[in-house]
Parts: sequence; C-alpha cells; structure tokens
Amino acid sequence: MNLRKTAAVTAVVLSLAATAACGGKSGSAGDNEDTDESKLPTYKVAKDVDVDSPTLKAAQKRGKLIIGAKSDQPYLGIKDADGKYTGFDIEIAKMVAADLGFSEKQIQFKTIDSSIRETAISKGQVDLMVGTYTINDERKKQVSFAGPYYMAGQDLLVRQDDDSIKGPDSIKGKKVCSIQGSTPLQNLKDNKAKYGATTSEFGKYSDCVKQVIDGQVDAMTTDDAILKGYAAQRPKKLKVVGKTFSEEPYGIGMKKNDKALRDAVSDAIEAHQKNGDYKKVYEETLGKSGSDYTKPPALERY
Ligand code: GLU
Repeated sequence: MNLRKTAAVTAVVLSLAATAACGGKSGSAGDNEDTDESKLPTYKVAKDVDVDSPTLKAAQKRGKLIIGAKSDQPYLGIKDADGKYTGFDIEIAKMVAADLGFSEKQIQFKTIDSSIRETAISKGQVDLMVGTYTINDERKKQVSFAGPYYMAGQDLLVRQDDDSIKGPDSIKGKKVCSIQGSTPLQNLKDNKAKYGATTSEFGKYSDCVKQVIDGQVDAMTTDDAILKGYAAQRPKKLKVVGKTFSEEPYGIGMKKNDKALRDAVSDAIEAHQKNGDYKKVYEETLGKSGSDYTKPPALERY
C-alpha cells in the first residue's frame, strides 16, 4: 500500500473509532436522536400578557425570557453540538414561555446544574428553571414552584451484567454515585444507616454515568426519568433496576413569593395538558426512553 492510501485508510479507521467511542444507539450520545421534531406541537404565542410579576415585567422589557435547563439528560434536557436544547423539559419550557408571550426565539436557555439552581433563581440569573427540579419544602424556603408537571421517582442505574443490585435494599456496602444538590443523593446521605451505600458526588450527570460504565462505582442513583434515558442510549452497557423509592414531583422554579408568576405558569401547564400538547410532547421525547404515558400529577396551587 502506498503512503497516501495508508493515510486514507487510517483516517477512515480513526473516524469510525471516534464514532463508536461516543456510545449511543447510532454513535451519538449528545442528541435526542429519536425525537422527530416535526411531530412536536407548535405553541401559539400569547399577546399583551399582563401579569403582576417583577420577573416577568423585567423579561418583557429585555425582550427575552431566561430559562435554566439541563444539558446532559437524554430525552429531558440535552444541549447538542450546535448549542440547541431539546427534550421534554425544554418543550415544557417552550409551551409555558409561549403563554407568557415569548416565542421560541425569545427564550435564552442557560445550563444550570442541580447544585446551583436556588442560587441562580434567587440572584435573577434565570427567570424560570425547568430541569428535573423536585418540589419540596426545603427548597420552598428559597424559591417557588409551579406544577408539578411530572412525577418521577428515585431509582438505580447499574451495568447490564450486574444482577447483584435489585433495589434500594441491595446497595449495602456498594459504591453509588449521584449528583451534588440533588434530592436522591440527599436521601442516601440522610438515611445512611438504612441504605448503607458509600456515596460519591458529581456536579454533572454525564460524569456519574461514566463512573458506572467504567466500573468505578457499582450504581448511580437519581430519578428514573433521567436514568431511563441513559440506559436507552447504551442498552448493551446499562440498565435501570426499576424499583423506585421516592417521589420526585417536577416543578418549574422561580423567585420566591412571586405568586402572580407562579399562577400564570401553572395556568400554562394546565392549558397545554388540556389541549393535548403535553401528551404529544411526552410521547415524542421522554416516552422514547421506554416509559408509557401516565396522567400527570394534579397541580399544587398555593
Ligand atoms: N429531581 C431531583 C432533584 O431535583 C434529581 C434530579 C436533578 O438533580 O435535577 O434534585
């Protein structure tokens, strides 16, 4: 083989290897590749929205609604190589934004990891936070929530060939990773005597998944909705145990005591659940990771 030919063959081999290294069904881990965007609803943008909310008024003046999101959760919140956000949470954000008078182009998504959500909201770095955000009393001391719009539950992600972990009762003495500032991590730490697992903490979901694949930990714990996405992308390597052991009602976070905005966002969620958008979105995003559509939880107005 001459030198040029050898170089060409090497280039092809290298690019194939790079594709394979990305993992995922067809090589890409950074896309919601199963979602057919043409099947997603479009949302009518409301006009002359008048809500007595300082956050909304500032956003209207700015001409942009800043929404905190996740960037590495398949089917929920993914930021692709072009900087575009997609997934279930992103669609929820878009439908709410439309009812508040903001088109898709007027939304600025910002990646906000779990541990900094309350700070980002309180400091006004984001107007709304839509990212697998569990509503609970502890967080309500700092922020407010509209919703819930979805009910998840804490579960475990393990390697496909590991049959030793069958649920939360079999993680005693096991190494389990989770995410800083998340409720599932807190649950393991608060109930150490009960679960008996050694925990390690990461800021990003994708880093924790890698630990499981590489065998550095035995399992990862967080919401089933998130874990199912990772397992669906790497079905040969990962599986979800499927025994949930908490309730994680997802809400849309915003500044504390902004009741007018909270009501407007809950109204928007309700309207899009009633007109069928919510179900369509679910089926084209989160539903693709293998869980059937279930009726959303009742909104909690306060
Ligand atoms: N829903 C849980 C939480 O809010 C875990 C997922 C996350 O970290 O966003 O903490």
